[in-house]
Amino acid sequence: MTIAFLNGEFLPLEQAQISPMDRGFLFGDGIYEVIPTLNGKAVGLGWHLERLNDGLTALGIVNPNTDDSWAELINTLVQKNSQGLNSDSIGVYIQVTRGTVMQRAHGFPQDVAPTVFAFAFATAAPPIPDREKVKVFSVITSADRRWQRCNIKSTSLLGNVLHYQEGNVAGKQETILYNDEQEITEASACNIFIVHQGEILTPPLDNQILPGITRRIVIESLAREGIKVKEQPISLEQLRLADEVWLTSSSKEIAPVTAVDDTPVGNGEVGEMWLKALTCFNKHKFSL
Ligand code: PLP
Repeated sequence: MTIAFLNGEFLPLEQAQISPMDRGFLFGDGIYEVIPTLNGKAVGLGWHLERLNDGLTALGIVNPNTDDSWAELINTLVQKNSQGLNSDSIGVYIQVTRGTVMQRAHGFPQDVAPTVFAFAFATAAPPIPDREKVKVFSVITSADRRWQRCNIKSTSLLGNVLHYQEGNVAGKQETILYNDEQEITEASACNIFIVHQGEILTPPLDNQILPGITRRIVIESLAREGIKVKEQPISLEQLRLADEVWLTSSSKEIAPVTAVDDTPVGNGEVGEMWLKALTCFNKHKFSL
């Protein structure tokens, strides 16, 4: 039985109920986080909590918890569920909405307590640091049709869901998005890195992409080993000419892409830089 958390109470997930008048349900008016843990230890916790707080601030919702109480909530959920989930890799999903009001009106309500919901779930095992054995990804590209505030980790994910589904219907595992200038933004649920002419590139942080925590850990852990990642615009053409393409997210860590729009990336095999990056990531991920 999965134990969830709702508004101050731990309870079986099946029993967690909120009002249909919650603004998260009516407007998608809230933010969320997914914090990965491995053997009970969170990865990038401080940066996840910082992004959670930034999202709440952007939405004008008062953070209902301190960092310490969020950390305790995450630990408790992992502990309560580790046996039932029977996995070393557990993700904790946290959602905070503006709360429940018995009238549907767009304007922010006054004096309403946010709704806080969290649950733990088993995630895929981290990628195997082996170029032959790692799971590879095949993706399509598509024009980014989402909103102008993609830096907010909003629960309003319809744009992302539709883009993910586009790839899925084409038999692929992700969709890489590009803007009107034909520059890569991100994928429907991941950030992007490419290796092009010997350099590691990733799109810069702006309103077009989520500031991914895995992206940040990749950049920092490579920097610690003296390897530079250039944060700069990447054209669709550069993506097509890339020797390597990686997807990064909390659940995938660093996933190699071996085909884009049915064309092999580089020689179609998992690249050497991917292995180096994953090795650096694994070395530093608990100390950043
Ligand atoms: N970009 C989008 C749109 C996402 O939804 C996610 C993760 O859910 C990411 C990037 C990767 O973010 P993180 O590394 O913090 O999981």
